Amino acid sequence: MIKVFEAPRKYVQGVGVLGEAGKWVAPLGKRALVVWGATVKEQVGARLEASFNGAGVALISFECAGNCTRDQIAAGVALAKAEKVDVVLGVGGGRSIDMAKAIAWPTGCKIVTVPTVASNDAPTSAETVYYLANGQMDGWEVWPANPDLVLVDTQVVVEAPVEWLVAGMGDALTTWFEAEAAFKGRRTAIAGGVSTTAAMTLAQLCYDTLMEYGVQAKMDAEKHVVTPTVEKIIEANTLLSGLGFESAGVCTAHGIGNGLTARPETHGHSHGEKVAFGLAAQLCLDEDISNEERLDVFDFMVAVGLPVTLEELGLGKITSAELMALAEAFAGPGTLPHNHVFTVTPYDLYSAMVAADTLGHSRRTLAR
Ligand SMILES: [Zn+2]
Repeated sequence: MIKVFEAPRKYVQGVGVLGEAGKWVAPLGKRALVVWGATVKEQVGARLEASFNGAGVALISFECAGNCTRDQIAAGVALAKAEKVDVVLGVGGGRSIDMAKAIAWPTGCKIVTVPTVASNDAPTSAETVYYLANGQMDGWEVWPANPDLVLVDTQVVVEAPVEWLVAGMGDALTTWFEAEAAFKGRRTAIAGGVSTTAAMTLAQLCYDTLMEYGVQAKMDAEKHVVTPTVEKIIEANTLLSGLGFESAGVCTAHGIGNGLTARPETHGHSHGEKVAFGLAAQLCLDEDISNEERLDVFDFMVAVGLPVTLEELGLGKITSAELMALAEAFAGPGTLPHNHVFTVTPYDLYSAMVAADTLGHSRRTLAR
């Protein structure tokens, strides 16, 4: 039984880190392709360029739009070759970051991720998730190694709407439960082996941090201030969750969350929101989860505003037959719910989603 743990080579987090980006990037390369959307470029472009100028790093802009599609990646690869860049930065959310990885690997460049939101755990990971232009998932790639550098400016992160931080908490909340479920069966994680004690400890710490500081961090971030509590949650969403999911394993929460992208109604909702509902269902599927623990997680999700019902994902009008059809796709051969140590059938997933939706409605009503 081989255990594998993987991680980025360096992780830097704090207020004002973006202003020092040149100092951190210069040892990796002097010609940098920056992958970002128009809004992010407007938000942080001047700060990044000033710090690059100070460090002698040339900035070549690659503006992308919409999802992380194979077409945009091909255009980015062509530009990276034409401009002879030696480092690629993904600046923004998961889409820009995933595209940067997919441009850097075929061109032999170093990779730097600069998340401007703490909404997902892409910044530390070695994966790219491809999407179609319409928002449906289109497979993924596991690259040979993780980013060379992760730069998280926490002041930039709290400039974003708080919904993104909450979405990140949803993605991070799944980490411990999926890690524990996958480890019981000694399943191989994305990193390529069975989980280490280190990855399990980080996944558990991720969960404990969210439960202790998540609600307060949301309040602070709503006021756009960085407090030690906000720093803890950004680290949980980005570093702890990223290391945990990749080296410890994923399971039903991501199986359902990723699968829900097949429904157009969910396209306006973030990855973190979809996997959060997936977790709600996973907690209703696994009899090893105590009732007390299940309620703690549901109540936390309600408190921070994560979806615990189908309605909150735009699926309030879904029929039983349509939900069963989704469950059949989620439980197909080779899908993530099979990482449980017990057998999972489509009917089990259907039942779990209905149970989660019902419990979610009840906990939301009680919280009012
Ligand atoms: Zn995720």
